Amino acid sequence: MGDLWNLLIARSLLTEGPARFLDLKARLGISDPVLSRRLRDLAADGLIAAEEYRAASPRREYRLTGAGVDLWPVYVALHAWDRRWAPASPLRLHAALRHAACGHVTDPVFGCAACGAIGLSARDTVAQVDTRIPFSAANPRRRYHRSAAATGALPAAAPADGSADPADPADHGAPGAPEPIAGAAVLADRTSTSLLAAAFLGHRRFGDFQDLLRDAAPQTLTARLALLTDQAILAKAPLREGGRRLGYRLTPKGHDFFPTFAFLIAWSTRWFENDGRPGVTITHRACGRVLEPRWTCNACNGALAAAEFTPRT
Ligand SMILES: [Zn+2]
Ligand SMILES: [Zn+2]
Repeated sequence: MGDLWNLLIARSLLTEGPARFLDLKARLGISDPVLSRRLRDLAADGLIAAEEYRAASPRREYRLTGAGVDLWPVYVALHAWDRRWAPASPLRLHAALRHAACGHVTDPVFGCAACGAIGLSARDTVAQVDTRIPFSAANPRRRYHRSAAATGALPAAAPADGSADPADPADHGAPGAPEPIAGAAVLADRTSTSLLAAAFLGHRRFGDFQDLLRDAAPQTLTARLALLTDQAILAKAPLREGGRRLGYRLTPKGHDFFPTFAFLIAWSTRWFENDGRPGVTITHRACGRVLEPRWTCNACNGALAAAEFTPRT
């Protein structure tokens, strides 16, 4: 999902339903070649399927597969993050989510379905990486372009395929306060997402990030760490109290990505198993079991489900 257009296409199919090529083009303001390529990629990854149907001429309609629909809690996670940290972002999921079961506009609450606890954060859990499984920052099959990831620009302003330099140092460190960045724009950059995951795994030093993200170039790591620091998602802080050596720690804004991280781990474990082993295991300290991330509705305490919430504009 480490691509802004992929995130936007899947979101559109999730919240607005199946669509033909021209429908998606109109919904997203995306060019033909970019849309063609993303649809091909998403189909190759098993997230969407195309169905042929006959109108005047053969047409295809794109819809999400089971794996694609199962991304809905990740979109709820991004929605909840944006509400708090980027309320004016054009990349927000919706202004509000209505829980269909109770009819209320819901402020989703994160919890563990294994024990029923709600209101959890990263501090209530322990995350461990299985070192036998490569923890990759790069896509093994193809290189992604950064699209509008770093700037949080409007989708329409995303560069066409091939025009973005993945390691352009001019993309961070711009003078003045950075624009509030939408969660989806952070997630659209694979290295940033991997660095966030590494931070949730307890990594603090540059060398530790480098050890974990072995296939990322050092200058890319440096640029993304600077970007995440500019966006106040990570902050430089002494590794030890009173010490002089600095590392990176998650800020409250960074910590709020925990539900996104947890749902992505749960999703990839369900759909992209490595011989049945999860690459990352998150344990809920209080119940001692593997965290089963769940969204509940703050109005009725009922669990949110893919079919139960409807977009409200
Ligand atoms: Zn639990
Ligand atoms: Zn409800």
